[in-house]
Amino acid sequence: MSNLCMRRDGRGKVKYRSNAEATKYARKTTLGVALYPYSCSLCGSWHLSHEKSNMVIERVPSAAKLKRQLENSARIIAKQQKALDAVISKQKAQQAERDAEITAITAMFIAQHQSNRRP
Ligand SMILES: [Zn+2]
Repeated sequence: MSNLCMRRDGRGKVKYRSNAEATKYARKTTLGVALYPYSCSLCGSWHLSHEKSNMVIERVPSAAKLKRQLENSARIIAKQQKALDAVISKQKAQQAERDAEITAITAMFIAQHQSNRRP
């Protein structure tokens, strides 16, 4: 499996510290040639390959990272729920205002109708 770290000409592949760094470098250097970053199980760093390798081993995110992502999602949902609750509460207040106006107008019409009928 030494070819994980080596180029076809036998020279060592460039090592990157992260997927992001490898991806950044791949974008900078390629001119229409696709390069795929992969995590090297041999040296632990990232390399670039012209082939989408079956050897590519995705790093499983740590439990701590997954927990952070989950907490972040929960915060976003809570924030959106709060905003939604505010909109619903505002709509309820507006509906109550409209109901009160309708009641007042109805009472006014009834009063007017009754006074018209009086001789
Ligand atoms: Zn390597």
